[in-house]
Amino acid sequence: MISSAIERIRGQILQACNKSGRSPDEITLVAVTKNRSLAEIKEVVSCGIYNIGENRVQEAVKKICWAKEQLPGFRNIRWHMIGHLQTNKVKEAVENFDLIQSVDSLKLAERIELAASKINKVQDILIQVRTSLEPTKTGVQPYMVSDLLKEISRLKYIRIRGLMTIAPLVKQAEEARPYFRELRMLREELSTDKDLGVRLEILSMGMTNDFWVAIEEGATMIRLGRAIFEG
Ligand SMILES: *Cc1c(COP(=O)(O)O)cnc(C)c1O
Repeated sequence: MISSAIERIRGQILQACNKSGRSPDEITLVAVTKNRSLAEIKEVVSCGIYNIGENRVQEAVKKICWAKEQLPGFRNIRWHMIGHLQTNKVKEAVENFDLIQSVDSLKLAERIELAASKINKVQDILIQVRTSLEPTKTGVQPYMVSDLLKEISRLKYIRIRGLMTIAPLVKQAEEARPYFRELRMLREELSTDKDLGVRLEILSMGMTNDFWVAIEEGATMIRLGRAIFEG
């Protein structure tokens, strides 16, 4: 049952917050609904989860169109793009997503800028950082983030809201801690850089396997799929 899974998750969030002296109000839960049905989306929304994450533009746009017509509370939903964004899908992504979490190059940011300017929208984004050395992972390397931020912050139709990372798949949640810590330290370092002048209030990190560790390390946004739908 989705509702009991969410209740359990809320308990785990509270526990991780208590352990690290944080407030659960600081944590936004994004329900990752890739490959999930419209009925399942409806159910999470009815449980009060209004942040929905998808990783493919095509699939997401279909669901968003449906939600617009069929889902009470549609207006309150914030849609998150959490997958790799191909340049030929940027226009649709900008038209449909409230937060694009997977920006990892200037080229992609410039495409977003162009698409957003055409509809006079300021697009919220996160920079996706590759905190692990796994070659398959997308994301910009930590040492390059500062330069990338400098370039992107010149763009008028983009607002950088923070950083996102995907920890590598590990056996024990605890093994993911160093990657989360690295993202938090990177944010601290960058937010104190006066030349940059970006706030980076969002730290999107932590999934089903490791979200409580991510919260202990400062996550302000967690992205959960299986914990909600297979919990
Ligand atoms: C699928 C996905 C998630 C959710 O993963 P679960 O392990 O099902 O919680 C989170 N973030 C990204 C980027 C994903 O692709």
